[in-house]
Amino acid sequence: MSQPDSPRPGAAPALSTDAADGTHTRADSQLLRIRRVGRRLFGVANCVITFEALRAKAGQRTTGSAESRFCYELPPSAEPVVALDARAHPLLGEHPGVTGAPQVRFYASHPIFNHARELLGSVHLVDYAARSGFSESDRCLLSDIAALVERELQLRAVNAYQSDLEKKNKSLRRKSLVDPLLGTWNRGAIMRILNIEAVRCDKASLPLSLIVVDLDHFKKINDTYGHPAGDQVLVRIASRLRACIRPQEALGRYGGEEFLIVLPGSSSQTAAAVADRMRATIAAQPELINDATLNLSISAGVASTDLFTTATTEELISRADIALYAAKDGGRNRVVLATPEST
Ligand code: GH3
Ligand code: MG
Ligand code: MG
Repeated sequence: MSQPDSPRPGAAPALSTDAADGTHTRADSQLLRIRRVGRRLFGVANCVITFEALRAKAGQRTTGSAESRFCYELPPSAEPVVALDARAHPLLGEHPGVTGAPQVRFYASHPIFNHARELLGSVHLVDYAARSGFSESDRCLLSDIAALVERELQLRAVNAYQSDLEKKNKSLRRKSLVDPLLGTWNRGAIMRILNIEAVRCDKASLPLSLIVVDLDHFKKINDTYGHPAGDQVLVRIASRLRACIRPQEALGRYGGEEFLIVLPGSSSQTAAAVADRMRATIAAQPELINDATLNLSISAGVASTDLFTTATTEELISRADIALYAAKDGGRNRVVLATPEST
């Protein structure tokens, strides 16, 4: 599965500004810890982490610590930098933060890279007293701190990538269950719901009812107004059927212009009443499609486990289908409840 717009592990993760002191988000608390370790380890005024992705934003900022602003004003460096006394350093000597306030003296930095060796930012040590030395083991420790930051960023990128994938999976899974035109469950999904609810109702000794709905003379609509108008009618009907059911009930597109409604816990009488409410609401109000007023009606067959106590879900659908045919035969715009006597 290609994920063209996913953040990839190793890419720059989402970051909040390194607002130096006190304004980090919770996600930044790990970076704050690393900075604290850096400060203590090297006994410097501040250990700052800058991100190239935030450079433009940081440049406009007037808040944040003097050290953070100083670090963001330096050009990005893909190499470690050490200035025991910044005044004597070719890169830093002319910097206004060195020649004037806050008068930085000691400075060291180490770059941070992603997997692709792209420069993400740097870890900086800033102090106001010049130093006489920065040993090889100091350089090693600073490089270790940069590696910790890289690990943390990788972890965040992987987490973001994973949660993005999960979101996409969820949306794909949903798409595979929903009818794209009507937004109802599709046939596969409504059948799964029916089977799950049948098991649940059986265990709980509750009735399970279903309604099969078919539009009356729908071919005529297509023939007279065209297929796109027929599609619009289907969308409106689906939305009106949905308005007649409760959240625990499910509406699915069973076939072209046939719907299956699953009513867990509802008796045959309740289900027949719901079906009749659907029938009445569709018949009561014509649909206005492309300036044409369409008088529509539906027929419905209802079947329930309270009348067919040993029926499988397939048998129940077949009973509802037979009842639907009876409704059509009886003149349409009607509801027929399947009973053991009627077959
Ligand atoms: P009846 O009252 O006996 O049900 O008559 P009918 O014309 O509705 O007959 P039937 O149910 O057999 O017709 C189904 C028609 O629904 C045929 C097909 O062209 C149309 N149809 C099925 N799916 C779609 C769809 O997605 N969009 C449109 N516009 N029409 C559809
Ligand atoms: Mg029909
Ligand atoms: Mg049909």
